Amino acid sequence: MICKLVGVTKSYPMGDLLVQALRNVTVGVGAGEFTVFAGPSGSGKSTALNLLGCLDRPSSGEVLLDDKNVASLSDDALGAVRARRIGFIFQSFNLIPVLTASENVDLALRLAGVEGPRAERVESALKAVGLQDYLHRRPSQLSGGQQQRVAIARALVKSPAIVIADEPTANLDSTNGEAILDLMREMNQKNGVTFLFSTHDPMVMSRARRVVRLKDGEVVADEAGAGA
Ligand code: ADP
Ligand code: MG
Repeated sequence: MICKLVGVTKSYPMGDLLVQALRNVTVGVGAGEFTVFAGPSGSGKSTALNLLGCLDRPSSGEVLLDDKNVASLSDDALGAVRARRIGFIFQSFNLIPVLTASENVDLALRLAGVEGPRAERVESALKAVGLQDYLHRRPSQLSGGQQQRVAIARALVKSPAIVIADEPTANLDSTNGEAILDLMREMNQKNGVTFLFSTHDPMVMSRARRVVRLKDGEVVADEAGAGA
């Protein structure tokens, strides 16, 4: 297993109430998988991905990354693990507007503490997502699909243990969404990159090789997907 939630509960205070976003969830992801967390809005997908991506901590239970429990690390230590080991792709791309495509990708390498020359790695990551002619464009000068490609390059440039993508196609039209899925799958098959993504869209679900269904904060099914 690359990463795993073990008996994880996550609750958020909401006034006098506690919202249970995850209830005693145990689920792991192994090397080379192309897995989706599927479920309706509010089922706990983002909460689960944020925990596996070291962006947040559970209320109880363990979060294992490379077989080590990261649930109790300090903020700084957790941030360092995330920068080195996790590539995270967001629904809204989350690129830094004042930086070019190259600079956005380079920043991820610097935050990961990668030593040695970086320019070639940055260029080849952007080339791999088809953006070799857009290296010096800012996000506002790129389409949504191109921005998500930059985000994929940014996630992959540091050779992370796993790429976690929270509804990566939700802000794209279906043509661009399918192209992004094709690109992810190609990187999974050709380069062995492990992907864990989420969606509430049946089309996207059907592209995964493994479908973990969430409902009301619980895993209700874990089955083979239709993705070739
Ligand atoms: P999904 O990504 O499947 O839509 P989420 O993981 O975002 O689901 O949310 C699961 C539940 O937790 C929802 O009921 C949501 O309202 C609640 N929740 C998520 N984040 C917070 C938060 N920061 N504060 C309060 N409630 C939250
Ligand atoms: Mg979500």
